[in-house]
Amino acid sequence: MTDKRDYYEVLGVSRDVAEDDIRKAYKQAALKYHPDRNPGNKDAEHKFKEATEAYSVLSDAEKRPVYDRFGHAGLEGRGGFDFSHAGMGDILSQFQDLFSDFFGGFGGSSRSGRGSDRGQDVQVDVSVTLKEAMTGLKREVNVRGVAHCETCAGSGAAPGSRPERCNSCGGSGQVATQRGFLMFATTCPRCRGRGEVVSSPCPTCSGQGRVERQKKVLVTIPAGIDSGQRLRVPGQGMGGRPGAPLGDLYVDIHVEDDPKFQRDGADLAAQVHVHFGVAALGGRTELQLPDDSRLNVTIEPGTQPGTVVTLRGQGMPRLDRHGGRGNLHVVINVRVPKKVSKKAKKLLEELMTELGENGNEASIQDRA
Ligand code: ZN
Repeated sequence: MTDKRDYYEVLGVSRDVAEDDIRKAYKQAALKYHPDRNPGNKDAEHKFKEATEAYSVLSDAEKRPVYDRFGHAGLEGRGGFDFSHAGMGDILSQFQDLFSDFFGGFGGSSRSGRGSDRGQDVQVDVSVTLKEAMTGLKREVNVRGVAHCETCAGSGAAPGSRPERCNSCGGSGQVATQRGFLMFATTCPRCRGRGEVVSSPCPTCSGQGRVERQKKVLVTIPAGIDSGQRLRVPGQGMGGRPGAPLGDLYVDIHVEDDPKFQRDGADLAAQVHVHFGVAALGGRTELQLPDDSRLNVTIEPGTQPGTVVTLRGQGMPRLDRHGGRGNLHVVINVRVPKKVSKKAKKLLEELMTELGENGNEASIQDRA
């Protein structure tokens, strides 16, 4: 075990660090190297284990002074942890409560076992059109999750009875397992980490303490919402133990592509087609925005195909603190008639002569 790094060094803290800061340092490392965020990355896994091991020692009021005096050697044979060979599942289940704190109910391992009294956070995906994103909307969403059972207040015991302390683990929810010289704490198989066993199970939840719930929640989606943004709706997740806070609802937004408008943040882009006569003489054209409002676009005389007209403040609403709206970029395309009558042909030829245009020269120029 001589190649082990110093625990303080692993967490990047000084030796006189306060307990609170150890937790903060570990949280940073755990968030960065958590296996859910680094699938298949062995280096991240190693760092995650290393940090977790360091945290398990330095956050322990008994182990830390021993480590401070004797280093790694002081913890050998005292049930001191070496996590480098431990299974990820064991580590995750052991620190489950901590991780669910860190990750706000996401990214940690599943919350079987004791968990917290707080209700479960729930995530839903919502897809909206560009029009809805421009105007904002209220959307009723289906929320499914696991709530604490109301019949037994989450205990799992039938009304009139109580859960008893699990005598396999003495109520800790964990049992020590020895592998070679190393001790590991694993989830107690009898009570599955709850620390309690139920002899007469609650009829509503079959002793689980939790039930599947489904409900509808009306979510207000603000104007200007964009793909990849997440809304948090406090208290609209699942129910916890009586008196404990409800979980939160997280809404991940996807804005559908629009056939007419391209979006880049708060900016929009669209094309309009104007008659070549309008492009030459100038005029106006009307454009319908995603929210169905109509806008006049002024075409300057002599407008060339592909000209971009930027209309400030006519894009999507901004959600940031600056407010206002982004810009609308209008690409002007010129419509050329595909078929012309005899009369129109004659007029066009006259027009070209008048403008000093020579059809042959123009085509030669085009090829150049
Ligand atoms: Zn129940």
